[in-house]
Amino acid sequence: MGAASTSVQMEYFKAKGILDKYGIRSIDSKYVSSADQAVGFSGGKAIVLKVISGKALHKSRAGLVKVSLTTKDEIRRAYAELERKAKALKPYKIIAQRMAGKGIEIILGGREDPQFGKLILVGLGGIYVEVFRDFALRVCPISRYDAREMIQQLRSRGVITYNGKAERMLEDLLIKVSKLLVGSPEIKELDLNPAIITEKGYEVVDIRVLV
Ligand code: ADP
Ligand code: MG
Repeated sequence: MGAASTSVQMEYFKAKGILDKYGIRSIDSKYVSSADQAVGFSGGKAIVLKVISGKALHKSRAGLVKVSLTTKDEIRRAYAELERKAKALKPYKIIAQRMAGKGIEIILGGREDPQFGKLILVGLGGIYVEVFRDFALRVCPISRYDAREMIQQLRSRGVITYNGKAERMLEDLLIKVSKLLVGSPEIKELDLNPAIITEKGYEVVDIRVLV
């Protein structure tokens, strides 16, 4: 949702801590300051490396997200490349994350509106929200009925609703995000983009909070 110019971005782990408090699961992550630390974090499993900087809001567009890194070699090479690209983006941090499973990418957003107070948004990730403007918006707090209606309102709802379990999970998630927004007056904007809904559950992999 459009950036408010007077707001500042909350530090990633502080934002992650707020999600934790409301029972919103986000992927295991850690700041790393060397390629060796990234290799250590991986422990042989696939990871993601990204550059976090206030100067780069769209990380993947700027080539600042490297996914599916498994071997030491892949991790070292990706780390070196990110460090090189990040030079112009100081101050920055490099974050290592576990790789989420394959699934449906959902965008959950929130912002403070001068007239209505906290608004909550949901849509599908990728082109659905940005190109097709296919999203649903409500004033917080929302009930389970509202959450269900928001999902039903999406033209792309079939991607979610063909799986009853995923649909229920997204309803729960919307209610939690609404509670977080209402309970956090300092938050001007929130973007969970995306939360990935997989066979096993969901994981938020990108958190942006403006205060
Ligand atoms: P940005 O939105 O700033 O470009 P993201 O952190 O959302 O950066 O990463 C871009 C895309 O990379 C995501 O939409 C998702 O498809 C993929 N991605 C990012 N982090 C993970 C992760 N931990 N596991 C799996 N896929 C990821
Ligand atoms: Mg994102």
